[in-house]
Amino acid sequence: MLNAGEKACLAELREAGLPARQALARLLALLRDEQETHLTLAEVVEIAGKAKLPIAPPALARHLEALAQHRLISRLPTATAESVFDTVPEPHAHLVYEEPAQTVDLHVSPATLLAIIRHALDAAPNQVEVLVRFRARSIGAGRNRSAPAAS
Ligand SMILES: [Zn+2]
Repeated sequence: MLNAGEKACLAELREAGLPARQALARLLALLRDEQETHLTLAEVVEIAGKAKLPIAPPALARHLEALAQHRLISRLPTATAESVFDTVPEPHAHLVYEEPAQTVDLHVSPATLLAIIRHALDAAPNQVEVLVRFRARSIGAGRNRSAPAAS
């Protein structure tokens, strides 16, 4: 039996055009409930294990890929070979600190984002790199997330 959060995730799966399977809905609900929003596969395997979710690591990897492809989660651009998934599906900015290793979500207005970038460039001009990512269009038939409306 699914709880309310898992049922909501089941509806999200349907809306995104993914098969509405209970295990996948439980995985998405676990990711949505997790306080840390940037997770590697190894971390998701650990979270799923603690929750006794019966999904083997290779299947978990496939599920994460499918969730990312359908924009229910996203993929964080990283310099490492290992994928980092972002459980916040909406486009947002990140501050990535190499030392200490930390990634911070920024859910701010464009004006605030520009002010933060300007401040960072002023404070540490030789230490700041800016990456601007243009997301691909969503392949799901679902909600209007980041894909511009077709005309
Ligand atoms: Zn993020």
